[in-house]
Amino acid sequence: MTTMNPAVEKVLNNLEGKTMKLLIGSKWVEAQSGRSFETRNPATGELLCRVAEGDAADVDAAVAAARQTFEGPWRNFKPNQRQNLLLKLADLVEANYDELCVLDTLDMGVPMRRTLGNRHRVVSTIRYYASQAMSIHGETIENSLDGEFFTCALKEPVGVVGAIIPWNSPLYQTLKKIAVCVAAGCTMVLKPAEEAPLTPLRLAELCLEAGFPPGVLNVVPGFGSTAGARLAAHPDVDKVAFTGSHFTGQKIIQASAGNVKRLSVELGGKSPNIIFADADLEKAVPGAAMAVFNNAGQICCAGTRMYVERSIYDEFVARVAEFGKRMRVGNGLDPETEMGPLVSANQLERVTGYLKRGQEEGATAASGGSRLTDGEYAKGFFVAPTVFTNVTDNMTIAREEIFGPVISAIVFDEIDDVVKRANDTIFGLGSGIWTTDVSKAHKIARRIRAGTVWVNAYNVLDPAVPFGGYKMSGYGREGGIHHVDEFLQTKALILNTD
Ligand code: ADP
Repeated sequence: MTTMNPAVEKVLNNLEGKTMKLLIGSKWVEAQSGRSFETRNPATGELLCRVAEGDAADVDAAVAAARQTFEGPWRNFKPNQRQNLLLKLADLVEANYDELCVLDTLDMGVPMRRTLGNRHRVVSTIRYYASQAMSIHGETIENSLDGEFFTCALKEPVGVVGAIIPWNSPLYQTLKKIAVCVAAGCTMVLKPAEEAPLTPLRLAELCLEAGFPPGVLNVVPGFGSTAGARLAAHPDVDKVAFTGSHFTGQKIIQASAGNVKRLSVELGGKSPNIIFADADLEKAVPGAAMAVFNNAGQICCAGTRMYVERSIYDEFVARVAEFGKRMRVGNGLDPETEMGPLVSANQLERVTGYLKRGQEEGATAASGGSRLTDGEYAKGFFVAPTVFTNVTDNMTIAREEIFGPVISAIVFDEIDDVVKRANDTIFGLGSGIWTTDVSKAHKIARRIRAGTVWVNAYNVLDPAVPFGGYKMSGYGREGGIHHVDEFLQTKALILNTD
């Protein structure tokens, strides 16, 4: 295999034999229990390094550090100072971008082809939040009180934030959470996913290099049921920002009740992607394929329910299946690789379970349908890009989130019917419409119950545009002013000026 980047060897050498530590305040420390866990490359099974396993006691220490900083010097940081920290961080991320991509690929498998292509979006996301730091404002309000009163609504940081992130996009997920926290003036305890803690830890080093005061960012890698659960339940955490599965989201919502925390929860999806016969098929074929095969389907808004109008169903499904068959699946470090492995043995078991179930329930694999095991594939967690045809709405593969490279192709005949079926899901995160009739697209977009509707596009994200869910895909929005607002409190000031 050819490696595309000289950064790879350097990163591997840096990791070899190490046990990564937790960041609490300004110090890198071992877990109080002394325990650590392995992190491995999902493409090869090779051990990358060990990581200190934080648990409840470490979370408590991290929350105390975040609280002390929030109540202390951080309060006096002006918006322009917070902006400067983020601008500095953006420069450092830009300068170290290749290394960060290598870490993402080694730890969770994403092809570097994909992450390197996102350079501009990732860096400009931090710069976007830097601009937001200087745009926070409350409002003055005219009142009808007897006497003379000045009334206004102030915006203040919500406080100490617990950020619990998933493994599917460690670089982007971590940066978004750090950037919004700093923009809003909060402090943070970050719990990376146990499957992919390396990029968040490297980003924490860059934050310190950027001049973040001690305690603004604390990082406690560890397991969900211990470190994550403590953070979600912690009485001194003011808000939890969570991205992950809806099962875990429900647990976090329950855990947060103890001190009535603020919450934003960005959960799973089973997003419809509707292809009309009048679509530009040259664009719709790769668009529909990559709506799912991107990141091996490990994307919460993946367009996995592909509704195709009857007159083009056979042709369209055949073309998407052909696209899947031609994809270069392999180690994400290889510049030719278009789709990498799944993140873990657990995820492999889950996805292959759905592949089996789909076929048992009557779907036919027009492409893929199984694990890849030839040669080098045997060492990793590879699954072939799969297009299931003859899928009906009631099949398990059309109802449950798979989080793998699996498209369920479903036929439809007319608009009202497809809108109703697209909305017939517990989720409401992403959705897509492919048509050259803009008027039709606009009308349908208004009827889809999902946080995002893409028209003639999919998975296109911009830092200024809100992203989030309806229904069991969660609540709260990432991106845009809506995101910053999730990290702010509103305080009324009523001042008697008589
Ligand atoms: P997945 O099932 O795809 O791994 P999860 O939603 O379980 O996704 O994981 C997302 C994040 O939530 C990870 O950082 C994980 O450690 C964390 N997590 C898992 N269980 C809990 C829990 N009970 N409380 C808090 N965090 C958790």
